[in-house]
This record gives sequence, C-alpha cells and structure tokens, in this order.
Amino acid sequence: ISPKAIVSDACASYATLDKLNGVVKPALDDLTTTTDFFSHYRLNLFNKKCPFWDDENGMCGNIACAVETLDNEEDIPEVWRSSELGKLEGPVAKHPGRRVQKTDRPLQDGLGADVGESCVFEYDDECDERDYCVPEDESAASKGDYVSLLRNPERFTGYSGFGASQIWDAIYRENCFQRSSFPHSAALGQSSNGAPFGGPAVEDLKQVLEAAGRQQVLEQMRETHPNAPFVAQTGLEAQDECLEKRVFYRVISGMHASISTHLCWDFLNQTTGQWQPNLACYVSRLHSHPDRISNLYFNYALVARAVAKLGPYLQGEGGSERYTFCTGDPSQDADTRAKVLAVTEGAASEPRLFDESLMFKNGEGPSLKEDFRNRFRNVSRVMDCVGCDKCRLWGKLQTAGYGTALKILFEFGGDADADGDGGGGEVDVPRLKRTELVALFNTYARISGSLAAIGKFRAMYEAQEASA
Ligand code: FAD
Repeated sequence: ISPKAIVSDACASYATLDKLNGVVKPALDDLTTTTDFFSHYRLNLFNKKCPFWDDENGMCGNIACAVETLDNEEDIPEVWRSSELGKLEGPVAKHPGRRVQKTDRPLQDGLGADVGESCVFEYDDECDERDYCVPEDESAASKGDYVSLLRNPERFTGYSGFGASQIWDAIYRENCFQRSSFPHSAALGQSSNGAPFGGPAVEDLKQVLEAAGRQQVLEQMRETHPNAPFVAQTGLEAQDECLEKRVFYRVISGMHASISTHLCWDFLNQTTGQWQPNLACYVSRLHSHPDRISNLYFNYALVARAVAKLGPYLQGEGGSERYTFCTGDPSQDADTRAKVLAVTEGAASEPRLFDESLMFKNGEGPSLKEDFRNRFRNVSRVMDCVGCDKCRLWGKLQTAGYGTALKILFEFGGDADADGDGGGGEVDVPRLKRTELVALFNTYARISGSLAAIGKFRAMYEAQEASA
C-alpha cells in the first residue's frame, strides 16, 4: 500500500491517517489508561446465553475447545493454555443496581483503592431505537459487571478453531443484506425510460430474485438479457459497490483486522514464555491481505470522524447538555473532560475524514438504514457466543464502540453548529450512555494502537527482507 494512496470510501490518505494518529494516540492512551471513567467497562459478560446456537462447544474454558485450539495443549504449561490466557484478570465488580444509595459504596475495594466510585457507576440504562448495538443489559436481570480494561489487555489468547471461526462466519453472514438488497420491485418493473416492462420475463425474474442470491440472479440476467436496460436499472451490478453495504463489510473486516493485529503484536511465544510481536502472524493475517489493512484504516477514519463530531456535543453545544463524567467529583470530572477534549480536538484537526452525508441517500434510503442497524445489532448479539472471556470482553466492547460511532454519524443531526449561527445548532441529539462513550473511546484507542503496530510490523518486515 502506498502511503499517498487514498483510503477508499474515506477522505484521507494512509499517510494522513498515520500522521493524525501520531497526534491523537498519546492523548487517547492518556485518556484510556489514566482515567477511572474510561478504564473500566460495564458489560454483561457471563449471564447472556448465545442467542444463535448452543454455545457449549464453542467455550474455550472447556477442555475440548482448549485441546482443539493448540496442538498438544496438554504439553503446554497450564498458565499458557488458551483457557488460562482467555480468563479475565483482576476483580470483577457487580453492578449495584439502580436503587443503590451513595452510602452503600459497594465498589470499595472491588476495583482497586484508587478507583473513584462516581466515575464508575452508571444509572441510566434507557434504550433508544437509534442504537446500533443491543444495550448491554437488555432482558438480563443483572446489570452487568465492571471490568478493568487495563488488567485485561487485548492480546493473544489461543482462542481459535471451530468456535472462533463459527463466530466470524456468522458475523460476515450478516453482511449479505439479501432481502433488502434485492432491487425494489418497482425498479424491476420499469425500463430505463420509466415505462413498465411487465410481462412474464420480469415476473420470472422477480420470483428468481426472491428464491436465490443476488450473484446467481445477476449471472442469470446476464445470460438471458445481456443488454437489457433493466439489468442496469435494478442496480444489481452496483449492489456489491453500494456504499452502505461496503461500509458495513469494511467496519467488520477492519475490526477483525484490528483484533488480528493486537493478537499478533502481543503474542505469546510458547517456547520461551515471552510476550512479543510475531512477525509471521502479521505477514500471514495482514501484510498479505492489503484489503484488510485498508479496512482497518477506513475504520480509523470513520471512528475519528465520529469522535470529532461528538466533541462539541460533550461540551454542551448542539442543544445537548454538557456531559458530566464523574458525578459528585468535580476535580475528576474536570480532569476527564480535559483529556476527552484533547482527543476530540486532535481527531477534529483533520476535517471530514469520512462523509456520512453520502450514506442512506439512495432509493432504498430509510429501509436500508434500518436493515443496516438491525444487522449491526445482530453482530453485537453474536458476541455473546464468543467462547473466551477476554475475547468476548473486547469483542463486545468494540462492537459497542463501532455501534456508537455509527449512531453518532447517522443519528446525530448534522454538525453541532447546525443552524449556522456560530453557536450550538438546535438538533435532535440522542443521549449517549456511559458504556457507549467508554466503548467508543476505547475502540478508537484499539484502532489507534493497531495503526501504530502495523507501522512497526512493516518496518520489521522490510528489515527482514533487506537482510535476506
Ligand atoms: P480468523 O481470524 O479466525 O479468520 C477466519 C477467516 O476470516 C479467515 O480464514 C479469513 O478467510 C477471514 N478473515 C480473516 N481476517 C479477515 C479480515 N480482516 N477481513 C475479512 N476477512 C478476514 N484471539 C486472540 O488471540 N485474542 C483475542 O483477543 C481474540 N479476540 C477475538 C474476538 C472475537 C470476537 C473473535 C470471533 C475471535 C477472537 N479471537 C481472538 C480469535 C481470532 O480472531 C482468530 O479467530 C483466531 O486467532 C484464529 O485465526 P485464523 O487464522 O483461523 O483466522
């Protein structure tokens, strides 16, 4: 990939994004590692059943999965086995529930002496139909667990085999958009000049469309009606090119690429017991698939744009209330706010990295948007099927983070100065939950770390090639 090349579907080159990351990464690292608010995440990690299949076989905590994931795992010291590596570290504090009184202080000594309770609890669990993710506590009796993200870094766990690939398969299957990606029946019934086609051929095709995947349909159309205007009219060829569907795929693939980057970068050498970068892992999973790296950079642009757009809202512009990070602790609140501002302003220093105004503008418009949102919610549900605690933690956090970015891009009305008077615009602003904010900024930090790691891997690869 040439650094000067533009990342497709984004409005920036690889070099621009790398440069931006050089500016934002220190602020992001500071925010996510030194503030209580952004270093703890609340999620329902253990109480949700996989809604899609019986997940017993996919659990890496069980011996069958552990044996499957690493050759001769029994020969490996127990601390290095995938079941051990995938376990959560550190205290996991229970959510106290909505009615907790401040005097209860249930987290004391739970999350560590220095953790400010007012920076950890969240009481507001309202759902919003504009959510791109399933709220963490949907239909669960428990309000979830608080987990320290610093104690549980995203890195190699050994989780692999059938369990992991089943999850990725299910996630990529959500990208099919089959029902709604079929052309509108109205479009099918018309010629390029708008006159109705009618007749049995179109009716037949409609039936085929309902019965088969779009690729088969396109092939059949090519064979039977090579130059028919309605082949173009239906937009079938353009389906794969459609921006919305491409964006959906790229978000998932970019997230997958980021997870791969982290596990390759923080890899356990099972011979020496050292945690270290694994160049061969990078080469096989990333370097030899430039599309995956491109999708990672695309995600950087998308999330950075969302973070930049969010900045003014957190400060109370755009008709929103100024966000309070740490209720009851003004000094922590001010400190956290200043660190958030450093990130949002850094992200905003490159204007318009992604143009969300181009999305959901075509004929399918609103129905496509709903489909997009529902599919993304399904991806977040699949995360409950991940059979390794640490992977599930980061998988859930990152889908929630991307879901929040998509919500900001597509559900927040315009810029904060929407009415153009230089002040805040009067727009309908969905309120973000604490978990959404924590997920968003930590997801941004994950992608930011991945870009930095890819840069270092590339240098290692070039050095290796030069010496060969
Ligand atoms: P996989 O990464 O499982 O990929 C499966 C297939 O998807 C590949 O064969 C390829 O065809 C395709 N593919 C791969 N990458 C991309 C991409 N970027 N875009 C498009 N297609 C792609 N393991 C850890 O060690 N640590 C973790 O923290 C961790 N977190 C995980 C979180 C989730 C949600 C899931 C599902 C898995 C996680 N895993 C983690 C497991 C890890 O992602 C791999 O599944 C595992 O390492 C096995 O890798 P693999 O080489 O079989 O290919």
